[in-house]
Amino acid sequence: MPKFFNTIQIKMTSAQKQNLYRAYSDNIDQDLIMGPKMSYMSFINQPNLEVMVDMKCLDCQFALRVNFALYAEYMKLEKSPFPLDTCPHCRKLQFVPLDIYNKLIDSI
Ligand SMILES: [Zn+2]
Repeated sequence: MPKFFNTIQIKMTSAQKQNLYRAYSDNIDQDLIMGPKMSYMSFINQPNLEVMVDMKCLDCQFALRVNFALYAEYMKLEKSPFPLDTCPHCRKLQFVPLDIYNKLIDSI
C-alpha cells in the first residue's frame, strides 16, 4: 500500500484480466508505455494487478479509476511517491491520485 494515497483492492475475472492484458499490449505496440512486453503469465502475476487507484486531473478535474500495476512500476523506476500521468481528457501531465489531488487543492 502506497504511503501518500489510497488504493482499492478488487477481484478480477479471467475475462477482465485478458481485456487488461490486451489494452496493455496495445499500449506497448503504440509506444505509449515502455517495453519490453511482459508475457500474459507475468502480466497477470504482477503484485498490484488487482489494485485500482482513483485518479483526478488537476487541470480539468476529469476523474477515472485505473489499474495500479503499471503505476506501481513507474513509481519504483522513478522513485516517485505517487504516479503522475497524462490526463486522458485534456492530455496535460496533471493526472494524479485523488488523495494527492485533494491535498494539492487544499494547499492552494
Ligand atoms: Zn485533464
